[in-house]
Amino acid sequence: MASGIRYFVGNWKMFGISSSYKILENVNKFFKRDKKNKKKYKIIIAPPFTLLQDFYKRFKNKDINISAQNCYHKDNFGAFTGNISPFMIKQIGIKYIIIGHSENRIDGDTNKIIREKIIVALKNNLKIILCIGENKKEKKLRKTLKVLKNQISQVIKKRDDFKNITIAYEPIWSIGSGILPSTIELQKNIIILKKFLKHKYRLNYNPKLLYGGSVDKNSIKNFRSISELDGFLIGGASKSSKNFIDIIKNFYK
Ligand code: PEP
Repeated sequence: MASGIRYFVGNWKMFGISSSYKILENVNKFFKRDKKNKKKYKIIIAPPFTLLQDFYKRFKNKDINISAQNCYHKDNFGAFTGNISPFMIKQIGIKYIIIGHSENRIDGDTNKIIREKIIVALKNNLKIILCIGENKKEKKLRKTLKVLKNQISQVIKKRDDFKNITIAYEPIWSIGSGILPSTIELQKNIIILKKFLKHKYRLNYNPKLLYGGSVDKNSIKNFRSISELDGFLIGGASKSSKNFIDIIKNFYK
């Protein structure tokens, strides 16, 4: 079962300028008025680095939480041109961070680098959303669960504080493609992964697991019945307040 509150996390990727805060204002207005369901979910939006501080200030006393999309794998300050450390992110006031997105893995984030990012993010008390996912070939070869378990084991160690880690299962073949896993297949993978996490990290509670990949106002209906899911990581559809709000509306319909 889901461990309680559900998460709707928007990943803006390389999108957004200063006036884009208006998108979040609309989402915030919707949340405030959603008396029936607002206690059941949390909204987290990850804008690009250029907007983090401004958005954090604008929304810190409101209901929308702001997340970073990534960080550098070294902490504090240093000679790492163009990079941002978890310490610098934490200093702004940000609490959440996405790590290990498949687009960053394609750009060179290895398990070793992701492990280092997790260490420094946890050190700064950031709440991590760790993305994992198999590619099309791995799925075809029926290696999905092996790949997912390996991605987790390589970067999370038993001593880590799992309470600050949420896993986002994002099949690479589903991201931005409109292709979805079947409800049965997804539910099966989520249940197996939760069991694996509980056993491996000796958790006496249910770990949080999100799904990401082509979630929009229509596809969300396929996921309503999966009670084990703790929420969604939403890319493309999070860049419009209407699309994002419709996802939440349709989930609770
Ligand atoms: C993502 O990139 O995390 C994602 C889920 O993208 P989309 O929703 O556009 O498939």
